[in-house]
Amino acid sequence: MKPLIVAGRAGRQLAQGMLQLVFPAVCGACGQSLNPEESGFCSACRSVLTIDPFPTCPRCAASVGPHAAVEDGCPQCRQLHFHFEKVVRLGPYDGLLRELVLRLKHSMGETLAELLGELWAENANARLREIGADVVIPVPLHWWRRFRRGYNQSEALASRLAARMRLSCRPGWLRRIRHTPQQTAQTPSDRNENVRGAFRARSWARLRGRTVLLVDDVLTTGSTCNEAARALRSAGAAKVVVAVLARSRTLGNP
Ligand SMILES: [Zn+2]
Ligand SMILES: [Zn+2]
Repeated sequence: MKPLIVAGRAGRQLAQGMLQLVFPAVCGACGQSLNPEESGFCSACRSVLTIDPFPTCPRCAASVGPHAAVEDGCPQCRQLHFHFEKVVRLGPYDGLLRELVLRLKHSMGETLAELLGELWAENANARLREIGADVVIPVPLHWWRRFRRGYNQSEALASRLAARMRLSCRPGWLRRIRHTPQQTAQTPSDRNENVRGAFRARSWARLRGRTVLLVDDVLTTGSTCNEAARALRSAGAAKVVVAVLARSRTLGNP
């Protein structure tokens, strides 16, 4: 048996080596060739993506000034009612992270979404575990948008986070029952109206009493995640914490 195992391993290494010759490993962000010890992203891009330069609001994850008192939320979110408990982020919706989030909106973005999910999971593993989630659920796309894009970027991110946290990822538990117009040109109150009732948990979803980690790529006004959280809570979830790759600078300002 032993020579066979060795041959198998050698064969795999050879195959990997050949794959690297045909598709040399390059950084998912800047396209430069990677050193053998790097994977996914080069070390320069990796540090830009994982070092969050700002203190954040513990409630809505907006960037806040260094001296802001934000125990019960920052000036942007203090007056708002959320169905989720809080938001955590990888970084601000700015610079390189913003550029990559925009690339995820295209059908070719799936590999990049997986690389970003992996990077995020690796970087924030301890912080995400502290949440004590029982299950990971991505914000769903309407089936038509998913069909056109070919994938759901939030689902690709969520599955990597869940795998690293050893939790199950249940994209089928939450459904977008209404196609909502693109939100970029709307005011915050228009956005709230626009997504109202857009989500529903599946009848078979085992949500009762559970803590859900709800994953999305970017959070702007919070209205989409808030509606998704409302649907999860009304299906019995005890608590919803939102994890976003990127948080835009201010609520209502994409
Ligand atoms: Zn790079
Ligand atoms: Zn806040």
